[in-house]
Amino acid sequence: MQTTTPAAPLSLEQETNPWLAQAARFDEAAKRLNLEPGIWKVLRYPSREIIVHIPVSMDDGHIEVFTGYRVQHSISRGPCKGGIRYGPDVSLDEVRALASWMTWKCAVVNIPFGGAKGGVICEPKNMSEGELERMTRRYTAALIEFIGPEKDVPAPDMGTNEQTMAWVMDTYSMHMGQTMTSVVTGKPVSLGGSRGRREATGRGISVVTDQALKHLNMIPSETSVIIQGFGNVGSNAAKLLWDKGYKIIGIGEYDGALYNPAGIDISELLEHKARTGTIHKFSGAQAFDKDAILIEKCDVLIPAATENVITSRNAADLKCRILCEGANGPTTPVADEILSEKGIFVIPDILANAGGVTTSYFEWVQDRMGYFWTEDEVNQRLDRIMIDSFNDVLHFSIAHGVNNRIAAYMLAIDRVAHTTKQRGIYA
Ligand code: GLU
Repeated sequence: MQTTTPAAPLSLEQETNPWLAQAARFDEAAKRLNLEPGIWKVLRYPSREIIVHIPVSMDDGHIEVFTGYRVQHSISRGPCKGGIRYGPDVSLDEVRALASWMTWKCAVVNIPFGGAKGGVICEPKNMSEGELERMTRRYTAALIEFIGPEKDVPAPDMGTNEQTMAWVMDTYSMHMGQTMTSVVTGKPVSLGGSRGRREATGRGISVVTDQALKHLNMIPSETSVIIQGFGNVGSNAAKLLWDKGYKIIGIGEYDGALYNPAGIDISELLEHKARTGTIHKFSGAQAFDKDAILIEKCDVLIPAATENVITSRNAADLKCRILCEGANGPTTPVADEILSEKGIFVIPDILANAGGVTTSYFEWVQDRMGYFWTEDEVNQRLDRIMIDSFNDVLHFSIAHGVNNRIAAYMLAIDRVAHTTKQRGIYA
């Protein structure tokens, strides 16, 4: 009789390594697609990883050196595309995973980009505007030959914003000797940004949530929602869902949460946050524990903050019907299995949060045309792509008998594998 040694359980550190989490889903989807071994290897690894150590003069006169990354995973379907993240926990494995997720995300929504991601290890909250500007310009200068409208187009991510993108655009333009707005997306509208880009990720989340409700015969007015994260993605998703009549019963942040089973007035909460800088001490809800809010009963749970919030430690306790992933990589592969067993309908990150990069694509198109669309035009085009992509993933999942996440990976890998084979391997 043949015996096999059961695989040792993963440590929490292994379980929450984003690169391993990405690779585990990739391998499973590639296996189900019967992907040929050569293409498997090509798509499994990033095509380029750049590490820079950038000196920056700080306000007090001393020089600090920051470590930054740009990982370009694939150019098979078009230029690389993906955000720049500033944060103390940025690591090469995280940026690698995020770059690969950008490839799969762009392929799921069928826009002509490959994937990339950048990051700088720093604590933006403790840096002045001037320090952030100098660091951003030096980081851009260090990457000058690797980015460009036809090469690699950065965008905002955690810790960066429209102003950061304006500095990247200006630095790149100074080096090129001409204004080149299409080198980055997520810029201010007055500098070649697209109308609707700021709200786009939240909007995409609201559109796919609507679709999931339709599929499950639910209606917004009887649907309760908990959102973790009230930054750009979470707050816009909250506002758009609230406008559509969903009941937002919980909002989580990194340092505490709010809960009101009767529903939170999101318009008032936005005003409160604009006035006080935080969601805390809001009179329209009770203070709640930031971890407990994730396992509170609701119909839709939207993690819209960071990676690894749903792990083997808490997945069994989730009490939602739908999990809509606004963040990149919020759920570990071990947690995936638990959620599948529980029958939770997962709208995976590479579909759920693709509204941002889809409107980035519109921004890049508009910059290159020099002709700008109305907000309605942007939103209608975004809605169409999100609805079609949701349906594509759902059909793949039904046709192949896999969960939505593996279906989304299979759809994406199939598309990227196709162009990789069509282009051939350059020798
Ligand atoms: N950082 C966002 C993401 O993870 C947007 C990327 C982009 O617009 O290029 O999808």
